[in-house]
Amino acid sequence: MSASLNLTSGAPRPLGILAALPQELGDLIEAMRAASGVRTVTHGQRDYHVGTVHGTPCVVTLARVGKVAAAATVSALIHAFDVEAVVFTGVAGGVGSDVRVGDVVVASTLLQHDLDASPLFPRFEVPLLGMSHFAADTALANRLAAACERFVAEEGAACAARFGTHEPRVHRGLIVSGDQFVASATGVNALRTALPDALAVEMEGAAIAQVCYEYGVPCAVVRTISDTADDHAPASFVSFLTEIAGTYSNAILARFLAGPAAAG
Ligand code: SAH
Repeated sequence: MSASLNLTSGAPRPLGILAALPQELGDLIEAMRAASGVRTVTHGQRDYHVGTVHGTPCVVTLARVGKVAAAATVSALIHAFDVEAVVFTGVAGGVGSDVRVGDVVVASTLLQHDLDASPLFPRFEVPLLGMSHFAADTALANRLAAACERFVAEEGAACAARFGTHEPRVHRGLIVSGDQFVASATGVNALRTALPDALAVEMEGAAIAQVCYEYGVPCAVVRTISDTADDHAPASFVSFLTEIAGTYSNAILARFLAGPAAAG
């Protein structure tokens, strides 16, 4: 079960934390450097930062963008770093009718919206695996959602005032992933029609969930809504990513990693 290329040493097994883009990690690597020091291992053209933050041993890395990049990176977290579980943090386009910029979505299930081997297999089904929806780990997703709820209760109003966004809300449900930045009314409406339950669209989560399912590693995905996947998406995405995403990520991850103790 454990890896032939295990670059970590000793117990306990670390948590893998990944994002696609550096802004989506906030100050996590600096916080880890301050708390425990960081050992950086380069593997498959990615830097894996090993250390402890908020009391949790972690391996933190950037997947870059898209399903292949995400699958390759999470495979390395599993095989080279023997992570116990995986958490993905990042931004996404809002798809659900009441999902607004600044809201947070925690995945219950994930699906690849651009996977279509029909008529050989049903649309969205991963051929030969017989599945289209991949579940996040319930306990991990509950803990992540609790951290998000705490963040919203404690800092949501201040965030909204600071950034000029709506007061954030936390949603839980289906996140869909594909190798496209969805940025048109036509594109997002097509998703709504095909997948009426979809809350958010992004480019990595379902690939991570599939790999984690295949290796039996618990995973959870949290996404802050940077845009609504329509014609305004490019501008909204860029400003949210550069100005806001890190604040959300820091606030959510700090509460998640510090554990459920302060809940309520
Ligand atoms: N490298 C570019 C492009 C990023 S693509 C850049 O840095 O500007 C957008 C990223 O944000 C992906 O990782 C994806 O998961 C997420 N994302 C945010 N809004 C999205 C949308 N409307 N459609 C698809 N992915 C979106």
